[in-house]
Amino acid sequence: LVVLDGVNKHFGDLHVLKDINLSVARGEVVVVIGPSGSGKSTLCRTINRLETYESGSITIDGEPLPEEGKALARLRSDVGMVFQAFNLFAHKTILDNVTLGPLKVRRVPKAQAQQRARELLERVGIEEQAGKYPAQLSGGQQQRVAIARSLAMDPKIMLFDEPTSALDPEMITEVLEVMTQLAQTGMTMIVVTHEMGFARRAADRVVFMSDGEIVEEATPEEFFTNPRSDRAKDFLGKIL
Ligand code: ATP
Ligand code: MG
Repeated sequence: LVVLDGVNKHFGDLHVLKDINLSVARGEVVVVIGPSGSGKSTLCRTINRLETYESGSITIDGEPLPEEGKALARLRSDVGMVFQAFNLFAHKTILDNVTLGPLKVRRVPKAQAQQRARELLERVGIEEQAGKYPAQLSGGQQQRVAIARSLAMDPKIMLFDEPTSALDPEMITEVLEVMTQLAQTGMTMIVVTHEMGFARRAADRVVFMSDGEIVEEATPEEFFTNPRSDRAKDFLGKIL
């Protein structure tokens, strides 16, 4: 579904993505881990074309990433993204936050958008908060709204960039549970996270990045019990 072929990107002199080759099949859940500054966020942002890249190619569902215009807007709605910061619209209700994209971008009729939003809010376990404003919700609840909002666009793939790292421990579980369920429904997902429990439980594949390179790709089982590279061993030694 998503194929990166020899992708390179620099920030000035810094080579942040070095010849990245990665393909993610439909329904696959890929967890990306690696030290701070290794290029994980940049990788996600490049797939969503929030960042440009200099060489190589990226295709989504067989189509090259568009440069601009309508095609780019469509790409953005096909590729859902959930960040560490929830980025909800503070002055809009939870329901409005979830219906906004479908109404404006997909031109879905209002009643239909609202019904779908309620279904999604129910799926992430916060249907009773629909009329509230983001500030009235806990961090974990806000992040679940952010997930529902992305899903409302019917994305082909969901990218998560450290979705739980701004959350208190007791809220991390509820967000990871929603993500685990989503993985079980067959959503294609790329998840950057330090939650190794989630990686073991939900990932089909773990991708380990270091210094802008994909150093290792393995099943969670292989990766956690028998990492091949010294860099992965070193990283796991620090975090486990
Ligand atoms: P973390 O685990 O801390 O989130 P990361 O793996 O997501 O790290 P990136 O945010 O992708 O790492 O950053 C990779 C490298 O690129 C870092 O050295 C970072 O300082 C640099 N970088 C990121 N964004 C920019 C930018 N907009 N301009 C210049 N350098 C950047
Ligand atoms: Mg990051």
